Amino acid sequence: MATPTDLPPEFTQTHTVVDAEADTTAGPHDVTMETIVELCKRRGIIFQSSEIYGGLRGAWDFGPLGAALKDNVKVAWKRSMLQLRDDVVQLDASILMHPRVWEASGHVEGFTDPLVECTNCNQRWRADHLEPNKAGEIFCPNCGNKEFTDPKAFNLMFKTFVGPTEDTSAQVWMRPETAQAMFVDFAHVQLTSRQKIPFGIAQVGKSFRNEITPRNFIFRVREFEQMEMEFFVRPGTDERWHDYWISQRWDWYVEHGLRPENLRIRPHATDELSHYAKATVDVEYRFPFAWSELEGIANRTDFDLRRHSEFSGRDLSYFDQANDERYVPYVIEPAAGVDRSALAFLVDAYREDEAPTAGGKVERRTLLKLHPSLAPIKVAVLPLSRNDKLVPTAREVNDLLKPNVVTQYDDAGAIGRRYRRQDEIGTPYCVTVDFETVEEDRKVTVRDRDSMGQDRVAIDQLVGYLAERLPRC
Ligand code: ATP
Repeated sequence: MATPTDLPPEFTQTHTVVDAEADTTAGPHDVTMETIVELCKRRGIIFQSSEIYGGLRGAWDFGPLGAALKDNVKVAWKRSMLQLRDDVVQLDASILMHPRVWEASGHVEGFTDPLVECTNCNQRWRADHLEPNKAGEIFCPNCGNKEFTDPKAFNLMFKTFVGPTEDTSAQVWMRPETAQAMFVDFAHVQLTSRQKIPFGIAQVGKSFRNEITPRNFIFRVREFEQMEMEFFVRPGTDERWHDYWISQRWDWYVEHGLRPENLRIRPHATDELSHYAKATVDVEYRFPFAWSELEGIANRTDFDLRRHSEFSGRDLSYFDQANDERYVPYVIEPAAGVDRSALAFLVDAYREDEAPTAGGKVERRTLLKLHPSLAPIKVAVLPLSRNDKLVPTAREVNDLLKPNVVTQYDDAGAIGRRYRRQDEIGTPYCVTVDFETVEEDRKVTVRDRDSMGQDRVAIDQLVGYLAERLPRC
């Protein structure tokens, strides 16, 4: 019998569940991928890697604002997984691991995608990514030919060598997921952190997959970051914990700004399940190109701990004092991607509306309605102009805010254009210093990104005013 402490706390389920076979068509969207890619490039958020050499397919660089956005996504995930909980601890494991790890996990044998080659132009494609037309025919997206070679299993792991000899004894793999370290280190972490089951180990880090057809901007790339957590539970309590984590993860996306109508939970059909899983659901987001996976939440059973016990010869079972029994824990794994989450947050935040101009007209404006905790810049400090009277006070305001929030000081160009720029990169507040500030009242104008409403706030009240509106920033 499960004891109460074995079981998840009560929770309210708010998520939408669809069938395994649900239609993946995205339908009409507020924004196209081209618009997002163009905005990201123009504002230096994300752009092609090694662009001056023609770029490298499936590799992207996060510029100043993109790097900050990604950091903020990771901080938000760690806050919910670690800071707000007592039952999850962190790990930062090595990317290169003993090669036997990947034999035990099944990756050497089975981490493959079906590869086909066009018999005309010799381009290679992932067979299950070639979309059939209405008649069920498949055409080469490059040359239109209909003939392909038979699919062959292509292993997605990148190989490299440790040390100076490039032979099989020195061969290692670039990790294709962060999860395995949590299994391999399970006993050590459990013992040293004095955690009792149920508890989790969380890790954020780079993973590498030699994807056959990287595509859709940063959705499918060859080098990416994952946020994974392995939650170890008593067999028999696993299904309840699986439901709990599905609910938790849904709430996290919604709390950080994704509209629930653009999210859904899709359970895997039995023939879709990975070799290690008893049940898996995907959290899917309605990207402009299709409903697609944001995160997988799997019930991995005791598969991984058993396999690592078998391959390493180490006992990875757990003695449960409360129930006076020894067992190999089951594992629930919420596995998310930082890059895919960042893309979903960008797409969902994109809006176009109208804003008044200084001349009394209206103009189109683009804004990223990012959750403040994810916005790369929290407050922009803008002197009305570069006038010598304004600059010292504007600098003073910037210095006052800097220890508390991430600011950007900008004095270049017309104030309206600077507002537009900040709206477009998702800055929640702009603080403007004008002549009244320096000549009359030492008050600044604080402008809200979403409503464009403005408040006059005394400089000595500004930190408190913003802290109230930007909690956790
Ligand atoms: P897919 O079916 O899209 O290839 P997956 O089911 O293989 O993904 P998992 O192994 O469950 O993915 O990895 C967990 C998460 O890591 C995914 O939900 C995704 O957010 C992220 N991820 C996986 N592969 C990639 C990739 N090539 N590029 C970017 N993110 C990825």
